[in-house]
Amino acid sequence: MDTYLYVIYTIIFIMGCLNGSFCTLAVYRIPIGKDITHERSFCPNCNHKLGFLDLIPVLSYIFLRGKCRYCGQKIRIRYLILEIASGTLLLLYALSLNMNIKEMSLDKIIGFFFGMMYITSIMIIAGIDKEKKYIQRSVLLFGAVLVFIYILYLSIVGNANIDRYAIYLFFMFAYFCINICDNISKKQRKKAIGFYICICNLVAVIAANFVM
Ligand SMILES: [Zn+2]
Repeated sequence: MDTYLYVIYTIIFIMGCLNGSFCTLAVYRIPIGKDITHERSFCPNCNHKLGFLDLIPVLSYIFLRGKCRYCGQKIRIRYLILEIASGTLLLLYALSLNMNIKEMSLDKIIGFFFGMMYITSIMIIAGIDKEKKYIQRSVLLFGAVLVFIYILYLSIVGNANIDRYAIYLFFMFAYFCINICDNISKKQRKKAIGFYICICNLVAVIAANFVM
């Protein structure tokens, strides 16, 4: 591999890590109706607002030795693992698209950003389902609109690979079914079914890109 490819993939990995920390925040804030874009993050123990340096994924955890800079409270290792997993996920997605500057097309770039937003919404749905055992409808609608616009775009530019996009539609359908079942039963589920379907969804999307 050429050096510039390493640079691209490193940037993508960092973007994925940042995305992971955004998802952690969204999973915590969306169910309680808190703003996800304007309000700064703070330490859940001492409530001190986090500075720019505290928000750098992975590195801040290592430099602060897993502790809050202000009160010394331990930060759960789970956050670090989630950030790295999220970075790895976006990296795999980029590799599955074969992001290569020499043959970079507008289609590929649009596909990558669509995929990044799609992966983000699926990760948030997964996280909320894992924590609260329900599918967050607002995030699901966001994902559905995203898929709709992307498939519309592909059919306009005449590049729609129906086999591949059937995967997106299938999973969207599955989430809506779970959401409807949850509403009908009115009881809280015991198992995070949505979470497991999200995992299958992410694996299927990336695997399909590699295979097709
Ligand atoms: Zn603190």
